Amino acid sequence: MIEVKNLTKRYGNHTAVDHLSFCIPQGQIFGFLGPNGAGKSTTMNIMTGCLAASEGQVTIGGYDIYAQADKAKKLMGYLPEQPPLYMDRTPREYLAFVARAKKIPAKQIGKEVARVMKLTKIVDVADRLIRHLSKGYCQRVGIAQAILGDPQIIILDEPTVGLDPIQIVEIRDLIRKLGKDHTVILSSHILSEVQAVCNQVMIIANGKLLACDTPANLEQQYASTVTIDLTVEADSQFVESMLVKISQQHTIVKQFQGRTQAQIRTQKGQEDAICRQIFQACRDANSPILCMNVNTPSLEDIFIQLTQAKEGA
Ligand code: ADP
Ligand code: MG
Repeated sequence: MIEVKNLTKRYGNHTAVDHLSFCIPQGQIFGFLGPNGAGKSTTMNIMTGCLAASEGQVTIGGYDIYAQADKAKKLMGYLPEQPPLYMDRTPREYLAFVARAKKIPAKQIGKEVARVMKLTKIVDVADRLIRHLSKGYCQRVGIAQAILGDPQIIILDEPTVGLDPIQIVEIRDLIRKLGKDHTVILSSHILSEVQAVCNQVMIIANGKLLACDTPANLEQQYASTVTIDLTVEADSQFVESMLVKISQQHTIVKQFQGRTQAQIRTQKGQEDAICRQIFQACRDANSPILCMNVNTPSLEDIFIQLTQAKEGA
């Protein structure tokens, strides 16, 4: 269990993290989602004891990250945004070095390094110099060092940044696998990334918490307006005169080849009634409906709406 209370970090006049409070129960894949500069890395650096906070408290499994740093840190493995890889070592040498730094008993190091290399699929490159590895492999070496010693909590800062789509899928699979018996916290500025793997999402912008919930609940809670896309085989005058009677918010998108495309915006819950009225009006006028599609906002829309609203504030 991780508890963050009132966490604040100031750089001079600039507040990078602004009174952030949240709890992460055990066994979750928890996503920090926010645009660049939101304060994700700063928060992770503080949570892992790499950076001092200006205010606030972090406890990891009941241990205070400052007062009981050794015990708290032992529970966590961290992949920072820029993993501190030693370019002139091989993954095997580097991981053995990290294992010693993590005070893993000498006798167990060989076995533990082999375990994490197998899990992160870097056995093939175990004895090549890290400087000769692709970005995808470097990232896996970074994850391998985070999970050495099998900490309960694994914190990954932008684990898929700079990877190609195939590598992204592989890292996601690994995160899901780790999430089965660990608490995993990952950050991303890309919503689909977080949505794909996380049970819980925390949206932050300008160091402030905007929302924290499951992806499904966020969609439900914030999806207050829906849009209906409509194409009717009729001219725009007919469609306009029909929609004026049915909805307060609509636009004619275009008229082409004897058909008219329009979009209607409405409060959630009203969409069925509007669709029925459109159907009846078109049937009465003998104008076929070619398309009628109800769209609820995606989590992407919600993310943009939330973060932009704050930026403008
Ligand atoms: P994110 O990881 O979400 O992109 P960061 O935590 O890296 O965001 O940064 C949050 C804010 O703090 C940004 O505005 C960034 O410019 C600022 N910042 C980060 N590190 C420093 C630093 N060492 N000195 C001054 N400002 C910093
Ligand atoms: Mg960052």
